[in-house]
Amino acid sequence: MPVTRYHAEYAWLGGQAPAADVLITVSDGRISGVEPQTPAGGARRLPGLTLPGLANAHSHAFHRALRGRTQAGPGTFWTWREQMYALADRLDPDTYYTLARATYAEMALAGVTCVGEFHYLHHGPGGTRYADPNATGHALLAAARDAGIRITLLDTLYLTSTVDGAPLAGPQMRFGDGSVDAWLTRTGELKPGDGARLGAAAHSVRAVPAPALRELPRDRPLHLHLSEQRAENEACRERYGCSPTELLSGIGLLGPGTTVVHATHLSTVDVQLLGATRTAACFCPTTERELADGLGPAGPLAEAGSPLCLGSDSHAVIDLFEEARAVELDERLRTERRGHFTAAQLLDAATESGHQALGWTDAGRIAPGYRADLVTVALDSVRTAGTEAGQAIYAATAADVRHVLVDGAPVVADGRHRTIDVARELGQAIPR
Ligand SMILES: [Zn+2]
Repeated sequence: MPVTRYHAEYAWLGGQAPAADVLITVSDGRISGVEPQTPAGGARRLPGLTLPGLANAHSHAFHRALRGRTQAGPGTFWTWREQMYALADRLDPDTYYTLARATYAEMALAGVTCVGEFHYLHHGPGGTRYADPNATGHALLAAARDAGIRITLLDTLYLTSTVDGAPLAGPQMRFGDGSVDAWLTRTGELKPGDGARLGAAAHSVRAVPAPALRELPRDRPLHLHLSEQRAENEACRERYGCSPTELLSGIGLLGPGTTVVHATHLSTVDVQLLGATRTAACFCPTTERELADGLGPAGPLAEAGSPLCLGSDSHAVIDLFEEARAVELDERLRTERRGHFTAAQLLDAATESGHQALGWTDAGRIAPGYRADLVTVALDSVRTAGTEAGQAIYAATAADVRHVLVDGAPVVADGRHRTIDVARELGQAIPR
């Protein structure tokens, strides 16, 4: 059994502050020993702050190609969506693999050790099936494996284009399986492989009518976009006489195995329903600001009992430090008060709660028995110099990540991906 010993200058072991001089022993991909205030001996030194692996709980990998292209100019979520559809229409499994591999490698550089891929681009143009009906899903699984990170593939049920049940049209044809049964049959043939697991997703109440929501599998993590737009709430109220959250609650879909993404436009009743059932809420602040979605009630949700996790979603930015800070800073903008979340709570959203939302209950902590995911952040960069280790979350960016270990394997060393020239591959993949 291969054993490696690391000596972290500081390591976040839970609690409210990091520990110093932590000897971390890794055996066969797992953490087997954690000893604070211990001399290094011959262990490999990790200067800076070592964190558990970060979980990016909401990703649409192909949106990475939109960065910069869609950020200028006027419009709304709905005009942005037209640009996103035009891109979706052009991808095939090969170009998707190349783009996703580079995107996941960018995540690895940012300290992400596990991604939740909310995957709805299933079929060829016009909705024609590939020879392997899971060709794009398998491309994503291979992309994560080759970039060195774990993945939960959240294969997404997408049936209608409006809450009223209008059929899919144009680029949306690629997203649909036609029925819950056809979706379950296809996803039943997915082969996740090592470092991967399968979850399920329903795109939203806009894309999945109530009878189909009732048939969703509950034996794996379930994710849904929820109330990202006011228009979705209004259409839901007209069709079902209640909010999207109330609809999910009535069907029995809320609970600790469910993660709602965005949760932006919620009523007080919605917040109580989500919190009381311990339903997780995934905030994607850099995307929500990019798309002019609005500010979700992060503070009230957390207080009501919902664990928060984080996603880079459209990948306008891939930086979970930025997402974590934004949860606090956006709450300040929303309430005109400071100090809603501690550094420990923000780190929990970026690490353990994110992994739990993706079904990895043995990841996201530096503790014996957990997966050996370690992310070391420099405390001597121009951004972090002079900051105390316990406050680094307020100062660090993805560019300050120095070393990343995933399941005990080094993926990033000295700020560079060990096998992929990430900038070059993004630069080649995106124009294609
Ligand atoms: Zn999304």
